[in-house]
Amino acid sequence: MLDEKKILEKAIAANGKTLQSVVACEEYAELIKEIVKTIRGEGNRNALIEEIADCEIMTQQIKMINDIDENSIQEEKKFKLLRLNDRINNK
Ligand SMILES: [Mg+2]
Repeated sequence: MLDEKKILEKAIAANGKTLQSVVACEEYAELIKEIVKTIRGEGNRNALIEEIADCEIMTQQIKMINDIDENSIQEEKKFKLLRLNDRINNK
């Protein structure tokens, strides 16, 4: 089985936290570009999938670099989803 955490730890150790953080920003920008192209009717589904995957991989590294545990993320997501649900229901 693919040990994602081990691969990402090796990437951070090899390239450094700063470079991996910069790469994360680059990947987020690439996803933004694909989303905009999709809105403009010039999108490519495979390119969008590729950039989402890149961003998920880099987000995982951002969590590791900054020592952010999965529980904290899940708690925050739950809070934000409930708030979103309230806002939608009260529209
Ligand atoms: Mg990319």
